[in-house]
Amino acid sequence: MKRLVVLCLVVTPFFAIAQKQQPKLVVGIVVDQMRYDYLTRFWEKYSNDGFKKLVNGGFNCKNMNYNYMPTYTGPGHASIYTGTTPENHGIISNTWYNKFANNTMYCTSDSVETTIGSETVSGKMSPRNLLSTTITDELKLATNNRGKVIGISIKDRGAILPAGHKADAAYWYDGGNEGKWISSTFYMKELPKWVQEVNETNNSNKYLNGKWETLLPIKAYTESIADDNPYEGTFNEEELPVFPHDLKALRDSNHNYSLIKATPFGNTILKELALAAIEGERLGKDEFTDFLAVSFSSPDYVGHKYGPMSVEIEDTYLRLDKDLAEIFSYLEKNFEKDEVLIFLTADHGAVNVPQYLIDNNLPAGYFDGEKLTTDLKNHLKKKYNTDTLIANVSNYQVFLNHSYIAQNNLKLKAIESEVAQFLLTQKGISKAVTATSLKATEFNDGILANAQRGYHQVRSGDVLYVLESGWIPAGYTTGTTHGSPYSYDTHVPLLWYGAGVKKGQSDKFVVIPDISATLAALLQIQTPSACTGFPILEVIK
Ligand code: ZN
Ligand code: ZN
Ligand code: ZN
Repeated sequence: MKRLVVLCLVVTPFFAIAQKQQPKLVVGIVVDQMRYDYLTRFWEKYSNDGFKKLVNGGFNCKNMNYNYMPTYTGPGHASIYTGTTPENHGIISNTWYNKFANNTMYCTSDSVETTIGSETVSGKMSPRNLLSTTITDELKLATNNRGKVIGISIKDRGAILPAGHKADAAYWYDGGNEGKWISSTFYMKELPKWVQEVNETNNSNKYLNGKWETLLPIKAYTESIADDNPYEGTFNEEELPVFPHDLKALRDSNHNYSLIKATPFGNTILKELALAAIEGERLGKDEFTDFLAVSFSSPDYVGHKYGPMSVEIEDTYLRLDKDLAEIFSYLEKNFEKDEVLIFLTADHGAVNVPQYLIDNNLPAGYFDGEKLTTDLKNHLKKKYNTDTLIANVSNYQVFLNHSYIAQNNLKLKAIESEVAQFLLTQKGISKAVTATSLKATEFNDGILANAQRGYHQVRSGDVLYVLESGWIPAGYTTGTTHGSPYSYDTHVPLLWYGAGVKKGQSDKFVVIPDISATLAALLQIQTPSACTGFPILEVIK
């Protein structure tokens, strides 16, 4: 009798796991530069079938945060999909100073690869700089390569990093005079027929030969400031930052097909590619889970140019809501609800235009990085009688000239401290921390912990600094950016819907690496190799 009980205990959980149905398709959606408040600010104007469908019928993690800096696109996509932060996956920025070769490194560039699908060099790309596995890699391993993984985005890094190292394909948009979806020799020898067909149809022309007008009458945009205001940038040869934006008239002076990137129609052509990918690759049609990673880049281009309070950004989100609704209704028509798992998040947020904040008595400013480099060099020259100690200043990091320091028997630690002390005397800088202290200390929370999680011991610099809240690098006279450890850049949406997902919402503080940990739990596969996140248990049925 006793034996039988033991046997049951062993067999039951195994049986339960074996019985659990895997989703046939995972659709991961990243909206580039989507602040959390875009969900709530524009809520009343969204349809029932886009963002609201995920919120009302799925699970809303209302307090999802980036837990490292700098909050940029490359690190964001890498962190969502590796379930860890730059300290482990190594994507410390979009472009960083490569101290070993004394040159700059773009996060996904790869000189050994060539473009598939156009005549330009835009396809010399691969995921080789990404140092840990992605959840999509783990799906490939778990299905013995039988689950398909495809990444798509306007931006190369938005397609490549989510798709991981073992992807079947990643496709991104080659603008300029090409206007084509391309890939690289890392993935394939030629574009599949369905991508060639999308390129031949070339719907970009449909949008670029028209105007960008507001979806609703312009008076309805009560969540935004006036269309014409001093905080917004313009397209080349456009006099005012106002609707309608005459794309046909502007395309020649704005790099032809590249113009579509900074309009909501960049989202629309990506939606069309997403639907063509599901059809063309027959995603979700066999028993092995497939994964389509979609990253909408256009909200980032629009946000940089016009800022979060613009009619342009509100219109971009109302139109994205419609594009999402089309994807969701396609999935509903072609799959059962428990066959598809959808999640939606962002790679970072954005700060309001600093001049707008200043004019509203809020803390903000513009930090002159070039002046900082000059002043820092002059300061060190007085002390060490050389101006060769600084190798590079980029991404809020100072890289020291290690070979000079070694050859002249100088003390690296003392120079690091000198630099940190100097940085803290500069207006707009709130924190500076040396590599030596980052290696010797474990920060648990707060902004220095975020700096540490963004710090890769091999790739990063010697002194890190943080600007005050509301400050961005100078050079932006209009528009805005992101990159900080503050909530406007770190607090982003996280929505779950479909297979294995409970209905509900939570205000619990969760962090970006938790997404891949939750996906691993939902898919019952191994977490990515350097995963530091925890599954968000409330989400899971
Ligand atoms: Zn981004
Ligand atoms: Zn405007
Ligand atoms: Zn950006």
